[in-house]
Amino acid sequence: MAHITKRSVTWLKPKTETVPQPVSEDSKEQMRETSKLYTWKWAKLRQYYRSLHPLCERCESLGRIRPAALVHHRVPVKSGGGLLDVDNLEALCSDCHTIRHKELRGIGGSKVGEARHQ
Ligand SMILES: [Zn+2]
Ligand SMILES: [Zn+2]
Repeated sequence: MAHITKRSVTWLKPKTETVPQPVSEDSKEQMRETSKLYTWKWAKLRQYYRSLHPLCERCESLGRIRPAALVHHRVPVKSGGGLLDVDNLEALCSDCHTIRHKELRGIGGSKVGEARHQ
């Protein structure tokens, strides 16, 4: 298995080349393309991140070993967190994920719908 360094993820970062233009039909199409690209990059990044963090990071910090079920955004994307920002990611089991989102709601952050990333 090839060893992947943190540096190799830089190609996944958003590029400025697809700047959405306001209002025209063309730009709507472009935004759809951009979001498809983001979805694809996120799928790749999630796979990469889980390969680095196969265990739940919250459980690990509590001295437990449990497999991660999904990759969570520490700062919700809709609250300004980076979708493709490795520093904004956390591998969690489903129990810890539920707890994380309860914490987020507790500080006036995310609503239930945000728990969709896996
Ligand atoms: Zn956990
Ligand atoms: Zn989450």
